[in-house]
Amino acid sequence: MYKRVLALVALCVLPASAEVVQIGVFSLFRPTELRVSPVSSALLVTTGDARIILEGRQTFTISGPVRVSAPDGSDTDFRLSIPGKIEREFHGILTVQAGDHKLIAVVAMDREVAVASVVAAEMPPSTPMEALKAQAVVARAYFAAAGPRHDGFDFCDTTHCQFLRAWPEPSQDAFRATRETSGLVLAYLGKPFAALYSASCGGQTRSLDDARSGYPYYSVPCDFCRRHSPGVVEGHRLGLCQKGAASMAATGVGFREILDHYYPGTSVIFLLPRPPPLRHSND
Ligand SMILES: [Zn+2]
Ligand SMILES: [Zn+2]
Repeated sequence: MYKRVLALVALCVLPASAEVVQIGVFSLFRPTELRVSPVSSALLVTTGDARIILEGRQTFTISGPVRVSAPDGSDTDFRLSIPGKIEREFHGILTVQAGDHKLIAVVAMDREVAVASVVAAEMPPSTPMEALKAQAVVARAYFAAAGPRHDGFDFCDTTHCQFLRAWPEPSQDAFRATRETSGLVLAYLGKPFAALYSASCGGQTRSLDDARSGYPYYSVPCDFCRRHSPGVVEGHRLGLCQKGAASMAATGVGFREILDHYYPGTSVIFLLPRPPPLRHSND
């Protein structure tokens, strides 16, 4: 009994810890050289034999294994680029490994940061708030239940897993939608599942009774696509239709009702432990 009380006390004083997802970035480009530079505060670059502090406009060219973090080893903002091809700001810890004639860049990212980054990439900025919240809940459920989907990291940054770009500013609706749904996921029979969604269903979503997905997708009508783009399909038509969700939200429907429409029989639950609310370096 005494032991049990102690254990309970220990649980209560532990700070809420952030769950981390490993996101493989830029893998489509098969980079052989990457560049990293600070956004606002200094970076610590650790290679096999050196520890380098990068400040201001300094840039480090990566051609082999390296770790990039804040000087104290924690998450930080950094700018990563493939010269002439792509540049993006991330928040987390960067690890680069040498792969087969390419570098494998992985960002260890707070799951809430990853959710916000997916919402910002997946939905146009003009999308009504309740549709962004619905997107945040399904993106979070996917991160919680689908991984790992790759060797060496959990998820990639393309539509193979979930499209992910830089994380949004606190003033952006994608950021607010993530913060306001902090820790909420879609669940079936009480368990989070890897909720699938697509861009445009053509008027009717598709059913899929596949035990591996953890949810028997139902075919449901989608008013918006029926009226505006019948038969025009973008994606696999499973689960939430992004165009339909945006249109429902525009008429005042809340995110829970939107999710209930596209995923019949599901519920929205909190992941435990509940993550601390998303905070931006610019907050
Ligand atoms: Zn992937
Ligand atoms: Zn639709």
